[in-house]
Amino acid sequence: PPMLEFFGIPIVNTTMPEAVDWIAERVRAREPALLTFVNPDCLNIAYVDAAYRQILLDAARVLPDGIGIHIGCRMLGVALQANVNGTDLFPKLCERAAQTGFGLFLLGARPGIAEAVAANLQAQYPNLTIAGTHHGYFSPDEEGAVIEQINASGAAVLLVAFGVPRQEAWLAAHQARLHPPVRMGVGGLFDFYSG
Ligand code: UDP
Repeated sequence: PPMLEFFGIPIVNTTMPEAVDWIAERVRAREPALLTFVNPDCLNIAYVDAAYRQILLDAARVLPDGIGIHIGCRMLGVALQANVNGTDLFPKLCERAAQTGFGLFLLGARPGIAEAVAANLQAQYPNLTIAGTHHGYFSPDEEGAVIEQINASGAAVLLVAFGVPRQEAWLAAHQARLHPPVRMGVGGLFDFYSG
């Protein structure tokens, strides 16, 4: 798919079905890939936070999240194929994961939230494997055990909801130790789907 560029950050201009296919292909090939979503707020952070900016530049894929990028594209006279944000992508990813049989690990948000999301998803997609969950308020001492839990779960997709840029920094810092091929930073997604 074609690329967009905002403040030097390449963003993929694609459709929702292609975005889901792309994830499924990385899972099939077991190809390690960091997937991030950016909105104008993230671009502001990338402007001042060099480490976050570099993570976006190194990411396998950056997708446009929300109306802000859409408006930016219109101002630049570029047609955005779709607003491929995490909130809309998530149910489609769950559908594909249930069909294909790969598992998801939900890491982040306050204690109980990821479990509530898992219960909701399990009710909606009976064939979906939620390989594991963990809240996002563990100490540095507990980090090793959390990574062990993720790896032992056999999950193919790790969704991390610590907020931007903490989730991206965490995924980058531990990329070599994490087994799930696809790693995604998903911000406030679990809070949204926990109700
Ligand atoms: N969070 C977390 N650990 C932390 C700080 C935040 O798990 O140490 C969670 C928080 O509970 C919330 C999410 O990260 O679920 C941040 O959501 P927000 O909407 O702020 O994300 P952003 O707008 O940065 O994508």
